[in-house]
Order: sequence, then structure tokens, then C-alpha cells
Amino acid sequence: MFNIAIDGPAGAGKSSIARAAAAQLGFIYVDTGALYRTVALGALKRGIRPEETDAIVALLPELEVAMEFVDGEQRVLLNGEDVSEAIRQPEVSGAASTVSAIPAVRQFLFDLQQNMAKEHDVLMDGRDIGTVVLPDAQLKIFLTATPEERARRRYEQIKDTSDVTYEEILRDINQRDYQDTHREIAPLKQAEDAVYLDTTDMSFDEVVDAILSLTKERQA
Ligand code: C5P
Repeated sequence: MFNIAIDGPAGAGKSSIARAAAAQLGFIYVDTGALYRTVALGALKRGIRPEETDAIVALLPELEVAMEFVDGEQRVLLNGEDVSEAIRQPEVSGAASTVSAIPAVRQFLFDLQQNMAKEHDVLMDGRDIGTVVLPDAQLKIFLTATPEERARRRYEQIKDTSDVTYEEILRDINQRDYQDTHREIAPLKQAEDAVYLDTTDMSFDEVVDAILSLTKERQA
């Protein structure tokens, strides 16, 4: 199997870029953030706050998290219910970042991620894919952009459907960057053998093309 690991901070455009690159390569695109979001949603639905570590650890055996692919699009299931839309609510983003710092939560989602990559050509995105989940991936990319540029892009995406301000988005991005890079377990950091791609001044297509050429190089 050919495995591509893409890691980077929140809002770097990982998911839309990874989705487009995977489609062109005929690979399965696996969004691992969706799995952490699903665990967070499972806790919130039961009235458990993301800071209540013990309660979340105790809840894990009751959560069944699964991925399905419908027309190449990943869907996430929580105890059989499709929660792919529900996990996109802003309160789930922050909660996912908090629960993802719990070692038992990372362990809980580990096999699910590794098994996908054993069975399929995947392009998997997350925070610790190149460093922890797929250390032997044939291609690793660390995709980033300045916090201001990431906030600007997200604001452009949602400004028509939400009254969130640019400043609020920037604050949220800075806070998640801090949490994701400072946690003890699997902090967001570039794998030594990852290609560093700063997309601040690159267009969407340029980034996708860069990933496609790197893949072709490694496949040759
Ligand atoms: O990428 P996304 O914003 O959907 O991820 C939600 C949260 O899940 C992130 O803030 C991050 O803390 C966590 N996450 C992680 N490891 C991954 C993917 C996401 O810790 N592989």
C-alpha cells in the first residue's frame, strides 16, 4: 500500500487539499480529526465536559466509532448514527482538541487509523500521522500557513453563513495551535522526514499539484 501522511495546524487547508489530491490519485482520503470530533461529540451528548478526563475514559467502551466511505466521501458513525455534520459545530472543535490530549482517547482511535492504511492506499491527515500513526508512510507532508492567513481563509469560507468575526476565528486558531503543540502526548510537530509546505502564498491548485508531484516522485 502507498500511504501519504499530511499533518499540520488547524485551518491550514489540510482537509480540502487532501481531499482534492486523494481524488486525483485514486486514494482514500482519511480525515482523522473527524474521529476525535466524534469522541468529543459522544461526550458532549451525554453531558460530559471535555475536561472531565476520568468520565471520558470511562465512556470510551460505550462509544463505537466507525468510518464509512460513500462515493469516496468519508462519513463518521457514532454508535451507528451518521454524525458527519454534527461534528462540525464550533463547540465540537474545541472539545475535540481537549479530548485528543487524553492518551486513552488516542489509543482508542489508533487501530482504526492504522488498519485503514494497511488495507488501502490512503492519504491521511491529522496532527500525528507522520510521527505516530504511520511512521513508515512513503510520503509525509507538513502543511502550514501563518495563523492570520489560516484565519482569513476560514473566515472567507463561513462569513456568509455565520456571524463569527475574523478576530474570533484567529483567537480560536491560536488557542488550538497552543493546545495541539503543547500537549504531552503526540503533540503537533513535523516528522523529521516530512516535506515542509508553507502554503501562505500558494494557491489551492499549486498546493495540490505540489502533493501530486511529490507522490509521483516517490512512486517512481
Ligand atoms: O483537524 P480537526 O480540526 O478536525 O481536528 C480536531 C482536533 O482533533 C484538533 O484540534 C486536534 O487537537 C485533534 N486531532 C489530533 N490528532 C489528529 C487529528 C486531530 O489530536 N490526528
